Amino acid sequence: MTSKSAAAAARATVYGYPRQGRNRELKKAVEGYWKGRTTADALRATAAELRAANWRELAEAGIDEVPTGDFSYYDHVLDTTVMVGAIPARHRTAFADDPLDGYFAMARGTQDVAPLEMTKWFDTNYHYLVPELGPDTVFTADFGRQVAELTEALALGLTARPVLVGPVTYLLLAKPAPGVAGNFDPLTLLDRLLPVYAEVLADLRAAGADWVQLDEPALVQDRTPAELDAVARAYRDLGALTDRPKLLVASYFDRLGRALPVLAASPVEGLALDFTEHAGAQLGELAAVGGLPGKRLVAGVVNGRNIWINDLEKSLATLGTLLGLADRVDVAASSSLLHVPLDAALERDIDPQVLRWLAFARQKTAEIVTLAKGLSRGTDTITGELAANRAALASRANSPITRDTAVRARTSAVTGADTRRSQRYGERTVAQRTRLGLPPLPTTTIGSFPQTGELRTARADLRAGRLDTAAYEVRIRAEIAEVVAFQEKTGIDVLVHGEPERNDMVQYFAERLTGYLATRNGWVQSYGTRYVRPPVLAGDISRPAPMTVRWTSYAQSLTDRPVKGMLTGPVTMLAWSFVRDDQPLADTARQVALALRDEVNDLEAAGTAVIQVDEPALRETLPLRSADHAGYLAWATEAFRLTTSGVAPGTQIHTHMCYAEFGDIVQAIDDLDADVISLEAARSHMQVARELAAHGYPREAGPGVWDIHSPRVPSPEEAARLLRTALKAIPSERLWVNPDCGLKTRAWPETRATLENLVTAARTVRAELSDG
Ligand code: GLN
Ligand code: ZN
Repeated sequence: MTSKSAAAAARATVYGYPRQGRNRELKKAVEGYWKGRTTADALRATAAELRAANWRELAEAGIDEVPTGDFSYYDHVLDTTVMVGAIPARHRTAFADDPLDGYFAMARGTQDVAPLEMTKWFDTNYHYLVPELGPDTVFTADFGRQVAELTEALALGLTARPVLVGPVTYLLLAKPAPGVAGNFDPLTLLDRLLPVYAEVLADLRAAGADWVQLDEPALVQDRTPAELDAVARAYRDLGALTDRPKLLVASYFDRLGRALPVLAASPVEGLALDFTEHAGAQLGELAAVGGLPGKRLVAGVVNGRNIWINDLEKSLATLGTLLGLADRVDVAASSSLLHVPLDAALERDIDPQVLRWLAFARQKTAEIVTLAKGLSRGTDTITGELAANRAALASRANSPITRDTAVRARTSAVTGADTRRSQRYGERTVAQRTRLGLPPLPTTTIGSFPQTGELRTARADLRAGRLDTAAYEVRIRAEIAEVVAFQEKTGIDVLVHGEPERNDMVQYFAERLTGYLATRNGWVQSYGTRYVRPPVLAGDISRPAPMTVRWTSYAQSLTDRPVKGMLTGPVTMLAWSFVRDDQPLADTARQVALALRDEVNDLEAAGTAVIQVDEPALRETLPLRSADHAGYLAWATEAFRLTTSGVAPGTQIHTHMCYAEFGDIVQAIDDLDADVISLEAARSHMQVARELAAHGYPREAGPGVWDIHSPRVPSPEEAARLLRTALKAIPSERLWVNPDCGLKTRAWPETRATLENLVTAARTVRAELSDG
């Protein structure tokens, strides 16, 4: 048991697998339970079947050590909150009455109680529920689920490794509970939390766990010395326990940086590191600490969050280097496979030539197994796999899909002048004022109007062939006409067509651009039971024909007021798609930007005087480490300017973003050089306006005065108050009046009432301006 040979066979493992099942059975069961159509027992039975099916699938594929505890009814961070007993006060009674209902109440809220806040899991599109902690938080171990799931896997005769969110990451992801001072640091609770982890570890050990994995992805971000001290303390204390399994601390999404020497010096028996996008830097850091003598290294060489096949030879070379740097080296995906769809073989509509470039969870699992085999038994045992991989990679590299000479010629001909408007903001704004003739505090919306059930049905009917294109377009036109008539009647100054033709702000464009691919079954969990199918940026991008001009022009034909053209910006197109891994993101962004630039120019040529290019994802795509921020922001803002700089000075470019914390990218927002920006602000009481002002933001801005996340209708007085607050930061010549975001998730009644109130508020405050 303790004797180990230098050539210990590499084990193949993963940290997590898609939870939903082949036909999204989990979504159906959970939603059925919410609606009262499925009993709790039936839900539990479905969940147990799905877990067992995943483990069997993994084992049959050759995975030596399967994960447990990666399954979740909703979210694994919420599961951790339950495991450590950190149930927020407002949910305690419900949770005590019925843990399953209490769990879902924390996730979704009820009539009376707000849910936990939801936010993005690092730089992925998965959302977790934010733990709420305070100085009075008492942790108690509630690990029944973790033990039960381990027992289930062991009963199948498998080697299983429970996977938990690590204590430091858990605290770093938390925020102060409502009512607790905003500067409360959850990390101060570490000493209270560790005994709970100690208990869980002891019980998992007793239930048969040889190893337990503690995920600490928060350590790939910049960490303060105090935070690194906490890491050292946590793993010294957990390491010192006598009754515990071996500990594998896992990091992913980036390199470990300063946390690596801390963990390397700790008594944990193993580390899992990400050797994908930042492999070179991570290898360098590992060599710099002298490797991990006496420890197990799990090497994440297969990318856990993209959908491309691995370069097996490159991974084998990395693994070969690692062999000398640790006691034993095992092979894994860089992160949980939760972030990729289940099985590329389920795709029927993708050209087989392209399909062989794709690897979803199942295909990635096979790659991991192949690599482990090659590492343990020699590459001559995997010659068939290597040859097939080499051929697939070569076909991708040489394909006209990934190498469109016209696109490449155009991208390399881009000059600095293409990314700058012909006049500075101060000059062109004069031309825009004259052309548009808007009142002070002009009113507008962010683009979408309510996506009604009828619209969705019409789209489904079109797809199913129950409705032909002509009939579908008649419906879309009717909707546009209604939206335009409503805005005119209400007195909105800059109108929109309402986006009724769009299923989704990224997918709509992806479907119309060459080089983009749609999947039929490529579902990934966004949050809870919400799954999305991100399109795939597979090849060089071009725009064969205008995508939106018809709809905008139709809307414009119905009114004398300006109608705003509406596009999704290049950064957001990348952020909400699977991106290429065979060229820098900046190159892909530039191709998308050029395609969108054609659309902007065509809108302008059709007479559109105002064009909005949405970039809600600009902030969320910010790299995890601050050292990488400047490089990202440089290409991201350039791509936006490349999209929007081809227009005449008199054409007004708008952009829109929604997120609360953007203080750290105000300079980048300024660098977009958009004439007008609309931002989410209602919930933060115009904090955004103050941040813009503090930065000296010189352009026009519309901090939102209606929180569109709620059906609540603000009164004209309330909206006017917010406008007066905004006016303290932004002068009246540069202030716009608009909601926080698009209205697609709202219903018509509150949309009508609120927009009428916004117009009233704008008129009231305008009158105050001319009086004063
Ligand atoms: N124009 C889009 C809309 O109104 C913007 C959506 C967004 O910011 N996410 O729906
Ligand atoms: Zn928005």
